[in-house]
Amino acid sequence: MTVDIKSLTREQLKSEIIARGYPAFRAAQIGDWLDNGCTSFEEMTNLPLSLRQQLKEAFTIPGVKILKKLESQLDETVKYLFELSDGHTVESVLMKYKHGWSQCLSTQVGCRMGCAFCATGMDGLARNLLPAEMMAQIEAAQHDHGIRVSSIVLMGMGEPLDNYDNVLRFLQMLSQEGGVRIGMRHISLSTCGMVDGIRRLMDEQLQLTLSISLHAPNNQIRSRIMPINRRWPVEELLAVCREYTQKTGRRISFEYAMMNGVNDSDACALELAARLKGMLCHVNLIPANEVAGKEHRRSTAQRLKQFQTLLEKQGINVTVRRTLGSDISASCGQLRRQQRREE
Ligand code: SAH
Ligand code: SF4
Repeated sequence: MTVDIKSLTREQLKSEIIARGYPAFRAAQIGDWLDNGCTSFEEMTNLPLSLRQQLKEAFTIPGVKILKKLESQLDETVKYLFELSDGHTVESVLMKYKHGWSQCLSTQVGCRMGCAFCATGMDGLARNLLPAEMMAQIEAAQHDHGIRVSSIVLMGMGEPLDNYDNVLRFLQMLSQEGGVRIGMRHISLSTCGMVDGIRRLMDEQLQLTLSISLHAPNNQIRSRIMPINRRWPVEELLAVCREYTQKTGRRISFEYAMMNGVNDSDACALELAARLKGMLCHVNLIPANEVAGKEHRRSTAQRLKQFQTLLEKQGINVTVRRTLGSDISASCGQLRRQQRREE
């Protein structure tokens, strides 16, 4: 079995090199190559040939290849379809904000959570991404587009808490010396509501922003559109969220995709406000994306406005998410399905 070299910490890499009889500075050289997006040991020309050979036998360098790049004509959004070393594909989106570039990353190939409105979940889960494959999405985009990514959101394909250990390892790699460095305060993690994972994350005491895909104010609606709710109902989810804000002091962001006639009534808004009252949180209303093969339709602009006003009147912080890159189907899962249909 070969080991993914990028998943090693710098300390572990150093021990591996010393164990093979080479001086420690070789590990720093290898680290530099990897940070610069190098994907083969042959290219590491300042290492002795014998070491390169040994590394090749013991390790792999997982990376991503750009299969497709779509650039929005409406704003500066860029969408990538990346190919992994085993041929699977994942999506990632670059978004330009006033404060810099933000990248939406995938954490799994597909997803097994089966939410009714989501394109990613339609084919189930193929496999988890490795920490290095999450990192490689950033390196590839930075290199290709000639920019520096200053914040990331784990809102691409996959459920991050269903790939907990790899995601955590990746987050730790981002705060490590050298290579891509992004501080926890510039990271958002979105989950469909895996309460066990939220609890583990809470104990890590990280300064990242937790987003919860709530999308419904009660179990009746939520269980219909999000199967995870049958395992952890709204009451349990919100209870752990309250605990999370108390333990970390961090505000939680609730995502709410507005779907016509599903979750967008006045009654839904009032019920949602009552549930969230007093919590350190804010609600992000998203006009739902319509997905080929799915029944839901986006709420009207008027309904969205009314829903927002009702929440505000109840004292809830609300924002309406800007839709970026709507001409390049920038919401995740859609491009990959399109590509597969074309094959
Ligand atoms: N699995 C995680 C993160 C990836 S999905 C999660 O579910 O939170 C990223 C976000 O996109 C989630 O809030 C998800 O609910 C939302 N989403 C999925 N399909 C959507 C659609 N058709 N319209 C709007 N939002 C959608
Ligand atoms: Fe998975 Fe998130 Fe899509 Fe649900 S919304 S199927 S959890 S990616």
